[in-house]
Amino acid sequence: LKRVAILTSGGDAPGMNAAIRALTLHALSHEYQVVGFYGGYNGLIDEDYTELSAANVGDIIHRGGTILKSARCPQMLSEAGILQAANSLRKCHIDALVVIGGDGSFKGAQALQEHWQGQLIGIPGTIDNDINGTEATIGFHTAIDTALDCIDKIRDTAQAFERTFVVEVMGRDCGILAMEAGLASGAEQIICKELIEDEQAFLDELKEEMAQSLRQDKHPSYVLVMAEHSLSISAQQLADQLSEYTGVDSRSAILGYVQRGGAPVAGDRILATQLGVAAIEQLAMGTGGVMVGIKNNAITTIPFADTANTQTRNKDFVARLKQYRL
Ligand code: ATP
Repeated sequence: LKRVAILTSGGDAPGMNAAIRALTLHALSHEYQVVGFYGGYNGLIDEDYTELSAANVGDIIHRGGTILKSARCPQMLSEAGILQAANSLRKCHIDALVVIGGDGSFKGAQALQEHWQGQLIGIPGTIDNDINGTEATIGFHTAIDTALDCIDKIRDTAQAFERTFVVEVMGRDCGILAMEAGLASGAEQIICKELIEDEQAFLDELKEEMAQSLRQDKHPSYVLVMAEHSLSISAQQLADQLSEYTGVDSRSAILGYVQRGGAPVAGDRILATQLGVAAIEQLAMGTGGVMVGIKNNAITTIPFADTANTQTRNKDFVARLKQYRL
């Protein structure tokens, strides 16, 4: 093993830079050369890359985003694109590629594996915490804190104006971010797919619970944290229905992309460092075709193909947390 490449792909997440730093510094300590491809798989296809040295990664651990840029790359969905990417890896004399991204990015890695003999390792980098084989993904800790900061502020205005708020957080199809941000903010209601069997029944119960609570003056303010894509209606439509049902003015706030930005919190920097070092160690042992993750504070590996099997994982995760809703 001589030359290791890194790319960041899919939605960017705070802590990706810390992972690039850890990968680079640890690879250099093994005397591997390190290169970074720009813009996810686009950089691979276009052979757009840079050599990485200790100096390049010296002051990035605390920065959000990714110095390698991230992007979606539709070309990877075609055989021609995958072949081109595999060809670039050969032309650039890459022996191993580390992909930092979500399960879509790992599908890309799997596709590459069929046309390229080098070693491939994945590192889970997404704010959504929606990847099987790890308890946490890089960026998740920061996203919760960012969402929490916003929800706390919204609660202040909800309290002052006697309004109720539906706050939509990210998560793609996973409710863990909503659940944790909801718990941490003391949200009166948390809405995510994993908690819903029958949407209408769920909403009927939620509205009645809320109306009763407001009637009994149990809460000085009322905040509902909702995961994106968890209902067939939007946050604003839900707020409208709640206003009508309870007679209390209800508004929606969609937090959106702020959750992807900001300096990574300690938890993400440490996780990124652990996984970066672990990825290089796996490569040194000759491993490929797996993602490194963390469970019970120990490093784990899982084949790329299993990283997208998240249904049971997410449901169990949310069910465990639901017990602590007050
Ligand atoms: P996040 O969920 O945090 O946004 P992700 O990695 O799941 O991250 P995707 O947009 O699903 O994000 O995938 C990122 C990129 O991975 C795609 O733009 C594409 O280049 C590649 N990719 C995704 N799915 C496949 C696939 N089935 N085959 C080949 N490449 C894929």
